Amino acid sequence: MTQDLFRQDAYLFETTATVTAITPQGIVLDRTVFYPLGGGQAGDSGVLVLADGAQMDIVDTRKGKAEDGSFTAAIAHQPAPEVLAQLLSPATGTPVALKVGDTLTARIDGPRRHRMMRFHTASHLLCHIVPKLVNGCSITPDYARIDFNMTEALDKEALSAAIAELVAAAHPVTVGAITDAELDANPALVKSMSVQPPRGSGQIRTIRIGQAPQGADPATTLIDLQPCGGTHVANTSEIGAVIVTKIEKKSAMTRRVVLGFAAP
Ligand SMILES: [Zn+2]
Repeated sequence: MTQDLFRQDAYLFETTATVTAITPQGIVLDRTVFYPLGGGQAGDSGVLVLADGAQMDIVDTRKGKAEDGSFTAAIAHQPAPEVLAQLLSPATGTPVALKVGDTLTARIDGPRRHRMMRFHTASHLLCHIVPKLVNGCSITPDYARIDFNMTEALDKEALSAAIAELVAAAHPVTVGAITDAELDANPALVKSMSVQPPRGSGQIRTIRIGQAPQGADPATTLIDLQPCGGTHVANTSEIGAVIVTKIEKKSAMTRRVVLGFAAP
């Protein structure tokens, strides 16, 4: 398995690591700062800095897959297809760039990830502003889209203004955990119809916006609390100038909200 350092510290953009496997899905490390595609959030890109200082570009990150297609606890770092092909079956006489047991530095594209952290936290603010179930979502470095299961119309300017207000209020964003039993007792915490929280390990990661969990002033407001495995900013003020760029009636039962960065 790969230790997922980004779950505890989304701001850790670099780590040393050891190669544990090279598979058709990519390079597996014992630990990583690379977030794998999942929960609507795109996989990270970046570089692996090898022992000799050479850099190998990583174009995407995915969860490892078992032979039956189920996800494993491994995280696969994907180099360009021709680089991976060469690693998997090196041509005779060609030196191998990377092998199992090598230590290296794994470094994500930090500014790209930070844009996704801003969008992901902004999408949770939208869950508070629009109290409807989410039936699809996609967080990318350039935009985010959130599909709400609803028939009512939404107003672009009003949503942008509500986001700006919560950003200006500088609410803390904290990572926590609840037990499977606590989640069963509070099913309303799950705001997504499309992404189910991972059960079975006993603990489910949560993201809380507003009202820090311990020692909080009871007067402070809880904005949003939901199970989520994604990477987030530490305070809503860091979201900055994120606005609603488009609202679409995707289907009779779905309103799609698209978030983007305001023009500087
Ligand atoms: Zn989330």
